[in-house]
Amino acid sequence: MAEGILFVLSAPSGCGKTTLLKRVMADLPGLVFSVSHTTRAPRRGEEDGRDYFFVSREEFLAIRDRQPSGFLEWAEVHGNLYGTSRAEVERRQAAGLDVILDIDVQGAAQVRAAANPVTIFIAPPSLDELGRRLRGRGTEDEETIALRLAGARREMRSAAEYDYLIVNDDLDEATDSLCCVLIGERLRRRRNRAGKPVASLFDAPGSQS
Ligand code: ADP
Ligand code: 5GP
Repeated sequence: MAEGILFVLSAPSGCGKTTLLKRVMADLPGLVFSVSHTTRAPRRGEEDGRDYFFVSREEFLAIRDRQPSGFLEWAEVHGNLYGTSRAEVERRQAAGLDVILDIDVQGAAQVRAAANPVTIFIAPPSLDELGRRLRGRGTEDEETIALRLAGARREMRSAAEYDYLIVNDDLDEATDSLCCVLIGERLRRRRNRAGKPVASLFDAPGSQS
């Protein structure tokens, strides 16, 4: 079976990555989200095992320091540790599923060095609008919002290193653009929109007319 594609999606916090991902995943079969480990506390509405595996710093470091490391990549973001389980990604790719990682720019650089991902950067229309969205979400206090806006300014400088750049201004348009990228990458690998291989149709005996 052909190995699934590894997609890396990065965006400054509050850009709408979670919203976009929920929408495209509802539309595209065969695409799975890699659930990261984090030492951050859960936000209102977040569930352990669905949004993140919420672990203590000690648990995180024990996974990171295994030989070989239990993480394909890891990084400290806004004072918390985040990491992607190597075993989970490899198992799903081997099963022919496309895996999407929602990770920061430091993690994306590590995955680029270790694997062959398709990378996508989601940008806000402006930093002012990003601030409005973070405040509108209502899950962070002003100090955390200031930290995230400073981080956003820094992360935007890495946008040029990604294969694709999508500005999340109008949500429908951005969702459409992200779907186009994911489907386009499947087609490039001779797979259909749903991720199923199409080459076999043409290789079958008796297929010549
Ligand atoms: P992220 O996962 O990148 O941190 P979220 O998906 O939580 O961001 O989005 C942050 C906030 O912005 C949410 O309240 C969401 O509803 C809102 N939002 C997302 N995309 C748009 C958009 N295109 N226009 C306006 N608001 C948006
Ligand atoms: P949040 O706390 O808002 O969910 O995420 C904060 C930042 O951490 C976002 O930029 C998100 O992409 C990033 N992040 C989430 N999971 C991982 C991960 O496993 N690895 C890395 N490097 N970054 C992650």
